[in-house]
Amino acid sequence: MKETIYTIPVNDAFATDCECPICLLEKDLEEKTLSFILGPSSMEPDTRVATNEIGFCRRHMKQLYLKRQNVLGLSLVLDTHLQHQMDLYQEIVKKHIKDVKKTTKINSGKMIDDLSDFFLSLESSCEVCNKMNSTMERYFDVFYWMYDKDPSFRKKVVESKGFCLRHYQQLLQFAKNNLSRKKLTTFTLEMNTLMSHNMERILNDVQWFAQKFDHRNEKASWKTSEDAVPRTIEKFISYCDFK
Ligand SMILES: [Zn+2]
Ligand SMILES: [Zn+2]
Repeated sequence: MKETIYTIPVNDAFATDCECPICLLEKDLEEKTLSFILGPSSMEPDTRVATNEIGFCRRHMKQLYLKRQNVLGLSLVLDTHLQHQMDLYQEIVKKHIKDVKKTTKINSGKMIDDLSDFFLSLESSCEVCNKMNSTMERYFDVFYWMYDKDPSFRKKVVESKGFCLRHYQQLLQFAKNNLSRKKLTTFTLEMNTLMSHNMERILNDVQWFAQKFDHRNEKASWKTSEDAVPRTIEKFISYCDFK
């Protein structure tokens, strides 16, 4: 693998002192993807076909609004998305309404189940997530390739502060497809040492944060625990935009 558009951001993220370099990559990618969705393409009806159909998850619908970028574009995206979904909604209602009017509990139940499936699938499909997932997979590919071939990158990884638990799970899962059996064993053991050490470090920080509320420790240094609470939360569930 030569230097690709994916190796530079991965290298940069792992050169940054942080609790999870993959959070850095994903946060940056999320910003760029939201900007793309709100960019000139949002004004073109043809390019809104995907967003009409797929829509956005709860997190990204909210973030599209909070970006305050191209509100006109966002209103057009929402307009045609809502029209498309209302048509699908009416199709389900039309399919069941005659039976529902016969007023048996079973007939209403069928319509409710279909509508419920429709709303759940709408909530779980997201054009921002889809676009991000394909790039994140490239980042993971590059990560294992560099971990395997580039000793200086591997050094950065094993000397890092580890990962948040969400990205650690993804990293282990993707490793099964990206590393040979022997390399997978070494990788898993190295990551286990890294994560155990760093979870212990976070635990010490959050414990010292709590102990600082004891009047006997009032004058003691905060050490590295001043931001231990948000940092521990982010270690559990990934970046949260607390700042
Ligand atoms: Zn993370
Ligand atoms: Zn999403």
